[in-house]
Amino acid sequence: KKSSLSEVKVAVLGAPGVGKTALSVRYLTRRYIGEYDHNSETRYKHEVLVDNDPILYEILDTCPKDYNDLPGNDTIHWADGLLLVYSICDRNSFSFLKKVGALISDNDIPIYIVANKNDMSHLREVNAEEGAILARSLECGFAEVAAAEQVAPVAVVFQELCRTVLASRRK
Ligand code: GDP
Repeated sequence: KKSSLSEVKVAVLGAPGVGKTALSVRYLTRRYIGEYDHNSETRYKHEVLVDNDPILYEILDTCPKDYNDLPGNDTIHWADGLLLVYSICDRNSFSFLKKVGALISDNDIPIYIVANKNDMSHLREVNAEEGAILARSLECGFAEVAAAEQVAPVAVVFQELCRTVLASRRK
């Protein structure tokens, strides 16, 4: 067994207000606060267990100014993996991710797409099938979750992305 701690760096990308902070905080603390004070990028570093292996999980919670503020190359090159987040009740946030997808499709980087705010299905603007189609085109995993209500399904998303990053290193 390896003695050194594997480090996994994930950038969380998505339009303003989709729940990037809520998801990151939910995963790292299991808690949901509801309102998050963030006007700038935040970096979290926590030791977590993935498949019983300790991982130093670094999460860059990005903070785009608006729907045209796509992630820069510095962010994408920094990351080992990308978590792409949209809100099921915000069609524009899905369009934002399609643009991000086009931007990163040449980078051979592990990705996971998460559709957040699944608890708000009465305000749904994006069907699950649309998310699944985008995930197929980017050859990545996809899940609909609600950071507001769920703990385990949110953790699964981060763990799955971590597994993909570790697997890509072994190649
Ligand atoms: P960010 O700008 O992408 O980091 O988004 P935040 O994490 O700050 O969340 C934006 C708003 O959406 C906040 O008011 C959150 O409480 C709310 N929010 C986040 N996740 C969920 C969710 O799963 N369901 C609902 N209903 N609201 C959520």
